[in-house]
This record gives sequence, structure tokens and C-alpha cells, in this order.
Amino acid sequence: MKTEARAARTRASTARTPASSARGGDGRRLEPGAWAYFGGQLVPFSDANVSIATHSLNYGTAIFEGIRAYTQDDGKLAILFAAEHYDRMLRNARLLRAQVPETRDELVEITRELLRRNGETADMYIRPLLYKSAHSLRLQLSDLDDQLAIFTFPLGDYVATDGLRVSVSAWQRVSDNAVPARGKITGSYVNACMAVEDAHAAGYAEAILLTADGHVAEASAANIFFVRDGTIATPPLSDDVLPGITRAALITLARDAGYVVEERKIDRTELYLADELFLTGTGAQVAPIASVDGRPCGDGAGFPVTTDLQTRYFAAVRGRDPRYASWLTPV
Ligand code: PMP
Repeated sequence: MKTEARAARTRASTARTPASSARGGDGRRLEPGAWAYFGGQLVPFSDANVSIATHSLNYGTAIFEGIRAYTQDDGKLAILFAAEHYDRMLRNARLLRAQVPETRDELVEITRELLRRNGETADMYIRPLLYKSAHSLRLQLSDLDDQLAIFTFPLGDYVATDGLRVSVSAWQRVSDNAVPARGKITGSYVNACMAVEDAHAAGYAEAILLTADGHVAEASAANIFFVRDGTIATPPLSDDVLPGITRAALITLARDAGYVVEERKIDRTELYLADELFLTGTGAQVAPIASVDGRPCGDGAGFPVTTDLQTRYFAAVRGRDPRYASWLTPV
């Protein structure tokens, strides 16, 4: 009887939660494209499934990327920093001793083909996932099969781009000696989930995490920049920060626009004294912070530097600034 009741409950909850209703990071419904790359070929998304005995599902032994493709003025999609994302993933593969059969250029081609097959023209998010596919519960990294899967879904703004209320998290950023922050390893995102969960529960949109020695590291899935007296600063990569591709792009954009950009350690109290703060990331794009722990940023008169950089960034990703044409790969 008990088993039947449980089965009925499972049926009911499955009926409410069809396979395609996984949720995106912004809490909205994630609607994956009809096709995915899985097992070395493009297959219907609904056929791209793994077993519950998969090593990476049990232990978080996977590496992922998040890539965006933006609609250009001609109505076609272009992938932003395609090569840079796959280069980062292939480099990080070494951390998990993962063997990747595909080359960087093949992965870019596969992604273009996948986007074409899915036939979308709206702004897209692309999720490549390199995972230990072996059916194994051994606590090791080598001698386990690896697979690379890719799926896509439409994505607008992941976080608000007109002023976020954030808090400094009581959760410490995973340190390089625990789970390498620069690795984009799936298991380490439990750390981000803990921080965001508590921030949301307290009414904030995002969490800022500190390193073990109390310096500013980054947000849950975005790098942070600090503006004071016209100078821009961001924490060094050695402060348990993911080497964000948008972070590097912003440094280039800002320097090209004549700003001074420093990479240096940032104290917690500098967050409260900043003229402006903003987040960067593939998902976050360029997102100004309105307040930290309830203290408004600057004099409350807006975010002039952030707005300037945001405008330049959106022009570049839409293909409207020829200086940054090399950032984009047409689909
Ligand atoms: N930090 C973390 C922890 C992230 O997950 C991300 C998203 N990839 C970023 C920063 C921003 O990196 P990128 O600009 O390469 O998307």
C-alpha cells in the first residue's frame, strides 16, 4: 500500500514537472532547444540522458562553460568568445584529468551546427558540460570515461542590469586548495548555491563572497569591479576568482575607453565606500550594484562609469563596434 501511495505521489509530481521544465539560473523556466550534442553527435534533447550511476552525478566531477550568442542587427546569431570559452574548458579539463576527444575548433563548429539545428534567432545561452560519464563510485579522477554534452536555451537578462541589491555572504568562497575556483567544476557550485539561497532568503538579489582571509572574491557566478574616484579595480585572479572571460573583456573595453584599471586585493569595507560597483559575467553581462548590505553605492545619483561600460559592452556583443568584431563568431 505504502509503495503504491509513493508511486502515485511520484506520478503526480512528475505530471506537474515534465522533463522539459528544468529551471534556469534566473528562476524562470528553462526551455532547451530541440537538439543537443551528446555521445559525439546531435540527438533530440529528450534522448540526451545519463544514468544515476554516473560518476559526475554522484561526485560533481564535471566542468562546464556558459556561453552566450547574441542576435546581431542582421537578425542572425553570433557566438560571443566561442574559442575563449572552449579554450578555458579544455585547459580546466586537466584539473579533472579529463580526456576530451573534440578539439577547440571542432567544439566551436559543433556549437554553430547545434544553434543552426535548433533554429533560434533570439539571444541564446549555450551550456557545454564535460563530465565523468563512467558508471563508477570510485573516488578518483583518472581511468574514468569522459563525455562532452552541449545544450542551448534562449536567455535574456540573467540578473537585473539596472541596479542589484547585494549582501556579503557568510559563506566563504571555495579556496584554491579545496576545490579550485578557477576550474568551473560543477561540484564547487554548491558553494554558490548556498550563498545565493541565503541572500535571496534575506531579500537580496545576489551574494558577494569573501576569501578565507576576508578579501573580496566575487559574486556567485560573476566577477566584481569597484569604482572609486574614476579608477576601476577588480580582485586579482589569485583571490579565488574565476578568470572570467567577460572580466577580461571589460578590462580591455575600459582601458580602450581611457579608464585606469587595477587588479588588486579589495577589502570588504571598500565595498561600502565605493562610488560604483558592478558585476560581469556571461550571464550577468555588465550589471550595476545599487547597494551592499543595505548601504547605497556612491551618492545615489546613478552609475555613470558602469553605464558607460555597459553601453560599450552591449554595442560590442551586438556587433556594432568594429573594434571588437573578433569577439564574435557568426552562426
Ligand atoms: N565567476 C564565477 C564563479 C562564474 O561561474 C562565472 C560565470 N562563468 C563568472 C565568474 C564569470 O565568468 P565569465 O565572464 O567567463 O562568464
